[in-house]
Amino acid sequence: MTHPAIQEIVAVFGQPVAGNPTQYMMEKAFAQVGLDWRYLTLEVAPGNLGDAIRGMRAMGFRGCNLTIPHKVEVIQYLDRTSEAATLMGAVNCVNRVGDQLVGENTDGKGFVQSLKELCDPAGKNVVILGAGGAARAIAVEVALAGAAAMTIVNRNESRGQELAALINDQVKVPTQFVRWEGDYKVSPETEVIINATSIGLGDGGAQVPLAVDTLESDMIVADVIFNPPETRLLRDAKARGCQTLDGLGMLVNQAVIGFHIWTGKDADPNVMREALEEFLGF
Ligand code: NDP
Repeated sequence: MTHPAIQEIVAVFGQPVAGNPTQYMMEKAFAQVGLDWRYLTLEVAPGNLGDAIRGMRAMGFRGCNLTIPHKVEVIQYLDRTSEAATLMGAVNCVNRVGDQLVGENTDGKGFVQSLKELCDPAGKNVVILGAGGAARAIAVEVALAGAAAMTIVNRNESRGQELAALINDQVKVPTQFVRWEGDYKVSPETEVIINATSIGLGDGGAQVPLAVDTLESDMIVADVIFNPPETRLLRDAKARGCQTLDGLGMLVNQAVIGFHIWTGKDADPNVMREALEEFLGF
């Protein structure tokens, strides 16, 4: 009995990458549109990333995702990067176009797509808590989507200043930096607040230092944390009457965007979200 060859391979390069929910979600989505594709989870030590990318070229992989710590380092091994990935200085998704490897960043785009289910970021006053990789990706895309003004709130001053300067200078959206000390008080003109820190990861009781009584019912509160999806911040925001957005939406939508980049097809976000929830046991 003969078996047809697998049509295409996509991989995620990360460290450590035990039990990747994205693999489960992607393979369900490939199957659903009738593609005999595979999504491999491969552990790559930082010093071996160049060899991994050369191997990917040699073996003709369709593309890959990158997780921490590879998102910045990978750029030197690619042929070019998209506008947003260039601004962010980080790539989480690589696509093979002919014999070229093109770096994209789908994290912030996934967030914006998820936010658009509740509101259009164009013209909005947005507060971002954090200035790490996720905050950077979200800030660039929310600014490119036409936000009116942004505030970056971060403990580490130089990281926060650098992100605010990037948005001010490169995307031309007025952005202020606020050093995070004590409980952050949300100003009443704020329309969207995004927790882009790692506070809450694996701990549904962890408290983001924020004065909950400054949240108003016409504000949208979003969290990048997807495990657990119902964070303390989102519970507190709901209790104040705010609309909320969990991190699963961002994770699903960045995968939908990556899926489209590689396959040219639209994945069903509901199938992907169900696969994620099943994998993560929610
Ligand atoms: P980074 O390590 O690059 O950044 C972490 C950020 O959190 C920094 O701004 C850091 O502040 C801040 N922070 C951490 N602890 C505290 C604290 N106790 N008080 C105040 N600020 C704090 O991580 P990433 O940006 O890559 O990831 C952040 C989170 O986003 C992770 O939990 C990750 O799982 C999640 N994520 C979710 C995605 C999704 O699809 N839903 C996609 C990508 C990431 P400082 O600079 O002061 O240290």
